[in-house]
Amino acid sequence: MVEVQLRGRGILDERVLEAMGRVPRHHFVPLASRAKAYEDKPLPIDCGQTISQPYMVAIMTELLQLRPTDRVLELGTGSGYQAAILAALASKVLTIERHEPLAKSARASLGALGLDNVQVVCGDGTLGSPLDAPYDGIMVTAGAPDIPAALVAQLAPRGRLVCPVGSREAQTLIQITRRGEGTVEKKGTACMFVPLIGERGWAE
Ligand code: SAH
Repeated sequence: MVEVQLRGRGILDERVLEAMGRVPRHHFVPLASRAKAYEDKPLPIDCGQTISQPYMVAIMTELLQLRPTDRVLELGTGSGYQAAILAALASKVLTIERHEPLAKSARASLGALGLDNVQVVCGDGTLGSPLDAPYDGIMVTAGAPDIPAALVAQLAPRGRLVCPVGSREAQTLIQITRRGEGTVEKKGTACMFVPLIGERGWAE
């Protein structure tokens, strides 16, 4: 997975490659599709959601440019796999999931791997989590109609945010970096995520 799908397709950040080589993806995949855990595709998880394709996890993680001291917020815990990669690269991760069964099983999967620097919270993440802000990195792993303003407000100086933005079916990755009072925005690759549902996302 790391050599062919990631390094072979242009993922260069050695820390990201090392983390993705170390965290067992099969541990976050439902038993029924475990044999496909290292294939180049998203896979179904409970509640009609998906665990993202490894390549997309790598691209988004690389864009966050994490340092070991960074504090990170993720919206859309899903299986917990992306949160595990973030936890391997940063000091602290808060991840929010709207489906309680997913939050519960992600908590168990992360706990079983001994990743004790991740907190999984159940709720609508589109308002972020102001009490724990600011964050050096914010990653949204569901497709949003636009970037939730509350998230940008919770970025630390020079903090990075990555979010798929577009329609309910297809999006473009947007990277936002805080620079002083303003922000710098860059457009990235095309992608397809399940919708971000909530107060500052899509209607249910
Ligand atoms: N990062 C996940 C995959 C994300 S799938 C992984 O590594 O497995 C997107 C997830 O976002 C789904 O589980 C969905 O329930 C969740 N989601 C959608 N809208 C949300 C919201 N407003 N707040 C929190 N989670 C949300």
